Amino acid sequence: MNAPEYIKVDPPEGYSSPGLFATMFDKVVGLARKNSIWPLPFATSCCGIEFMATMGAHYDLGRFGAERLSFSPRQADLLMVMGTIAKKMAPVVQQVYVQMAEPRWVIAVGACAASGGIFDTYSVLQGIDHIVPVDVYVPGCPPRPEQIIDGFMKVQELVGKESLRRRYSKEYKDLLESYGIK
Ligand code: SF4
Repeated sequence: MNAPEYIKVDPPEGYSSPGLFATMFDKVVGLARKNSIWPLPFATSCCGIEFMATMGAHYDLGRFGAERLSFSPRQADLLMVMGTIAKKMAPVVQQVYVQMAEPRWVIAVGACAASGGIFDTYSVLQGIDHIVPVDVYVPGCPPRPEQIIDGFMKVQELVGKESLRRRYSKEYKDLLESYGIK
């Protein structure tokens, strides 16, 4: 088995000459943020096992600067929901999201987190986007680690390009209010 490839990160666009490099502050912050994401894995069932494989030596999410998992919402910036979310558990997921500091992002990993999956029943939440805004959906039942990594890289793209001011925008505040989150 070959070792996973080392990930190289390109510098942002800017002006350079010997001993000088100038770019925009937004881009530097985006570069740092996207390569130092601290995920909070909220794993309730089988998709969580795929995430364990994603963190293991072969797939190694640590190559993307995300090896520091956080089980404390206040020290996390990416909520990864993996597995079936029962309606009874929905307020807990939302509370975890609320306790995370801005900026924060969310991935719904697998069919259950994205839409309830095969559990179209009275007791299962039909997608976590009923309770929190979701940035990226990873399809599959379960998704393979490659798909989880692909979803993670999509989040990295969003993080890298996000303006520092987006979180103060009216659209963003309206979005949170639509979920009853202040
Ligand atoms: S999407 Fe499939 S594999 Fe993932 S938690 Fe639901 S039933 Fe399990």
